[in-house]
Amino acid sequence: MEIKNKKITVIGAVRSGISAAKLVQKLGGIPFVSDMSDEVKLKDSINDLKKENIEFETGKHSDRVYDCELMIVSPGVPNDAPILIKARKFKIDLISEVEFAFRVCKGKIIAITGTNGKTTTTSLCGHVFNQSGFNTFVAGNIGLAFSEIALDVEENEFVALEVSSFQLDLIDQFKPSVAMILNITPDHLNRYENKVENYASSKQKIYENQDENDYLILNKDNGEVLKYLNDHKSKSFYFSLNEEVDNGCFKKENKIYFRLNSREEFSCNVSDVKIKGDHNLANAMAVICAAKIYNLDNERIIKALQTFDGVEHRLELVREIDGVKFINDSKATNVDSVWYALRSFNEPIFLILGGQDKGNNYEQIKALVIERVKKIYAIGSSAEKVFNFFHSNVKVEIKNSLEDAVTSAINETRKGDIVLLSPACASFDMFDNYEHRGRVFKEVVNRL
Ligand code: ADP
Repeated sequence: MEIKNKKITVIGAVRSGISAAKLVQKLGGIPFVSDMSDEVKLKDSINDLKKENIEFETGKHSDRVYDCELMIVSPGVPNDAPILIKARKFKIDLISEVEFAFRVCKGKIIAITGTNGKTTTTSLCGHVFNQSGFNTFVAGNIGLAFSEIALDVEENEFVALEVSSFQLDLIDQFKPSVAMILNITPDHLNRYENKVENYASSKQKIYENQDENDYLILNKDNGEVLKYLNDHKSKSFYFSLNEEVDNGCFKKENKIYFRLNSREEFSCNVSDVKIKGDHNLANAMAVICAAKIYNLDNERIIKALQTFDGVEHRLELVREIDGVKFINDSKATNVDSVWYALRSFNEPIFLILGGQDKGNNYEQIKALVIERVKKIYAIGSSAEKVFNFFHSNVKVEIKNSLEDAVTSAINETRKGDIVLLSPACASFDMFDNYEHRGRVFKEVVNRL
């Protein structure tokens, strides 16, 4: 793609937008960044742009944004935003940052999407490939934008790339060597006219440009993944916790196997996977599929699975106090991830639940909560909703703050219990983001 001297507009001065603008500049193009938010909110971004001498505007989208040959749109901008509608009228090419970075990246892309588990799986994938001697960048939605590293990747190197459905909405040529769909469950439906099929079909875009030389790794246990699967040219591999597969990875009793054309090529013990819970076994199996597609060494794969500690804020063990374990799962921002969190422990659970509600239906976890949870501490703007739903079956107490919830928990738990922050909600009612919520939890626990 020729960028030299081309005017390129970047909509959204978020991390990926800034990286895209810098990449445009590096390639000799002329970037212009536009964001509706005010300067105060965008302070850090503005500093970055000034440092790089990149032109920008804040607080509005002026007509200058349409004076370009290509528009890179940040994932936060909805598809039906007026600015995108107008840009389409002007026949401007609209692409996501991932699409842009892809066009200039020479390496092999392992693209990972799904409702839950993207970050964990992407990190694990990077860990397994790197530990096996394959140089692999870890990027995407995960902190380091793809545009930040796209030019550094050599042809024989890999990128483990976390991609959200929002990034996939605006792809055109994006063609990963390996694509994974980990799972599809209702989330972010507000962006997709409340239709799960719209959300699911944006995830299917991950493989739409793949050909016979590419691979697609799919969750055999997830009905929505299979139901919305479109025709594709790439070779399919499956992973399953429940049934044997001929091409892919599955769990049987206490072992995990990988088969290629019905032949066993790899096996390890379930206990070799250090990260806890069935959902993490599923994530690990998806990674094993990718690893065996490139024929990574079995011993090295196992070693890497044994040494991967997981990612901060995902079922992270913070501290054990007098036999009570405090677990930070602040990233559990939907009901599905709480379901998996609850299934990851056999011990009695004191659950901190609530925050900014995203239209949660707690029916899905009701039975599990009754079975495993001794008490719920309800926090945040949805505390009352949590109380109303659960109080006739489980002890529930509304707490004014996360700190109050933790302090009560320390007094009410005993040896062998678990205190689990797994809120099923967004954090914006009380915190800047889920990382902030997780950090506050850890600070309080570490102060006890
Ligand atoms: P994402 O990047 O897709 O948000 P994360 O790896 O950050 O996924 O995990 C988000 C939350 O989902 C955490 O609470 C984590 O424990 C849980 N989780 C991780 N993998 C899965 C999975 N395969 N299915 C369901 N929940 C998962």
